Amino acid sequence: MVEAINVRKSFGAVEVLKGIDLTVDAGEVVSLLGPSGSGKSTFLRCINHLERIDGGEISVNGELVGYRRQNGRKYELRPRETAAARRHVGMVFQRFNLFPHRTAVENVMEAPLFVKRETRAAAKQQALDLLDRVGLADKAAAYPAQLSGGQQQRVAIARALAMRPTLMLFDEPTSALDPELVGEVLEVMKGLAAEGMTMIVVTHEIGFAREVCHRVVFMDAGVVVEAGPPQQVLTNPSHARTRTFLQKVL
Ligand code: ADP
Ligand code: MG
Repeated sequence: MVEAINVRKSFGAVEVLKGIDLTVDAGEVVSLLGPSGSGKSTFLRCINHLERIDGGEISVNGELVGYRRQNGRKYELRPRETAAARRHVGMVFQRFNLFPHRTAVENVMEAPLFVKRETRAAAKQQALDLLDRVGLADKAAAYPAQLSGGQQQRVAIARALAMRPTLMLFDEPTSALDPELVGEVLEVMKGLAAEGMTMIVVTHEIGFAREVCHRVVFMDAGVVVEAGPPQQVLTNPSHARTRTFLQKVL
């Protein structure tokens, strides 16, 4: 589903990703751990066409990110092609960024209506189904300000699912939440994982990584330090850098 080969990315003179290799299979749930500044968000943004990479290659669903192969050559995608490719990827951020003047159901309907040009009735029915799926059937008419942070984040997940993505990227989806609201969001993500969604989750929730993820990838300073099943990386890490990090977050 995702194949990243030797991905490099610099901001000015600072190289932030120094040759990242990562393969994620369809249906796999991978958590990305690492200290602040190690390049986790940048890597997710590269996968989702939000940053242009300087070296290496990323493909999603067999299609190159940012480029199209034709007659053995690589051509840069045009903005329309990029927009089309991005529809297969859903992303959820630490900050929910819901439209404040639209209700929950209107937030979820937005992309199907205006990007996919679905009918209003179809978009609304799907949005109501998605809100039900994240446990918010009774909040369809609520405005973001009337919802808790956990509820807003669940609306944001429903909104990301509305484009029927085949890959979901989560960038610290619970980091901005009060501790008592973290569980309800992780439950929704756990449900998605159980349904077979392919997911890459940047998180400091070690319990979630251990319980739900098939694989844990530990990044530091722009490289993948180690990767493997949770019981291996979290319980018996082979690198000192991983051990030091885990001691801080556990
Ligand atoms: P993480 O998500 O692991 O905390 P980030 O990917 O956000 O790390 O950041 C990695 C490094 O890249 C940091 O040093 C950060 O300051 C830098 N960085 C991220 N985005 C930009 C940007 N748009 N311009 C310049 N530097 C950036
Ligand atoms: Mg980050």
